[in-house]
Amino acid sequence: MPLPVKHRAALVKEFGKPLVVEEIPTPEPRDRQVLIKVVGAGICHTDVHVWKGDWSVAGIPPKLPFILSHEVVGTIAAKGDKVPDDLKEGRNVLVYAWQWSRDDVYVAKGLTQLSEYPAHMAIVADGGMQEYYLVSDYRFLVSVDGLEDLPAVAPLACAGLTTYRAVKRILSHLEPDDYVAVIGLGGLGSYAIQWIRALAPYVNLIGVAGRDESLEFASRIVKLDATVNTSKVDPAKAIMEITKGRGLKAVVDTVGTETTIMVYTSLLTKMGVHMIVGMIGGEAKISPLLPFIVNERILTGSIVGSLGEQIDVVTAAKRGMVNYRAVVTRRLKLEEVTEGLEALEKRRALGRQVVVL
Ligand SMILES: [Zn+2]
Repeated sequence: MPLPVKHRAALVKEFGKPLVVEEIPTPEPRDRQVLIKVVGAGICHTDVHVWKGDWSVAGIPPKLPFILSHEVVGTIAAKGDKVPDDLKEGRNVLVYAWQWSRDDVYVAKGLTQLSEYPAHMAIVADGGMQEYYLVSDYRFLVSVDGLEDLPAVAPLACAGLTTYRAVKRILSHLEPDDYVAVIGLGGLGSYAIQWIRALAPYVNLIGVAGRDESLEFASRIVKLDATVNTSKVDPAKAIMEITKGRGLKAVVDTVGTETTIMVYTSLLTKMGVHMIVGMIGGEAKISPLLPFIVNERILTGSIVGSLGEQIDVVTAAKRGMVNYRAVVTRRLKLEEVTEGLEALEKRRALGRQVVVL
């Protein structure tokens, strides 16, 4: 198939202003590069921050116009001459978003997400909210053969991966009949509950969100043992009632604000663990620290996941351990990206919205 000279992309030209769909040159892949015909591109809350210019003081994004989305799935359209033969044109692939530009000790240890030379999509480099996306190296591609609803696969690159790593890291702390709460039931939360059910089926799972729609949406994906609507009840009181005074062994906090950290760390059992995976809204002041020492509690964080974990996540989806289709609630056209970003910003979105190209 001959490649087009130009293709459409949704561009952030001004912070917080509607995205502009424009034609940009289609690059030709060289050496280890692969050109992907994008089929689906997910909208993450991080995209909202980048779009609004919330992190511009930190140099994110590095330039305008900028292209969002680090949840990209598509088919191989063309490739450079150093790409192996088995990566054939037409093959369906998920793009690992947490790329790096140079190998270092973290990459050598398989902790690719911690590389000192990050080239993270839609944060420091352009993302995939466009018809064609140039992958700098074929090693960032994960085969998704066998997953039939291709656009719905996209969120496995961030929402699915980030929560997989976070849940995996709290697993060793969990014992039968423990109570585990997931705070926030959006894109990340709707995967976090699935990983907990799949990897620790012996714990009691509590879903916590500020809207009934979110609680109902999550309950349709997995069976929750209890739900807490924080806009209707005092979450601390409700959780102490649900856990019969025992408290929470673990919290997976997909919101990650000062409030959620203060409220939910106070509900931990001895040796309880608070895992932060959401982007911290304000400066978190953890005080007093004394309960963490005398109760041996753990407050920790987790950032996306490694390339190895990305392969695990896709394998888990292929085995049916998680329902990747149920997470995607809305499919948008390229011209509707602004609408999707606004829905996420105003907390009207459920699960994950994916742009279908
Ligand atoms: Zn994300």
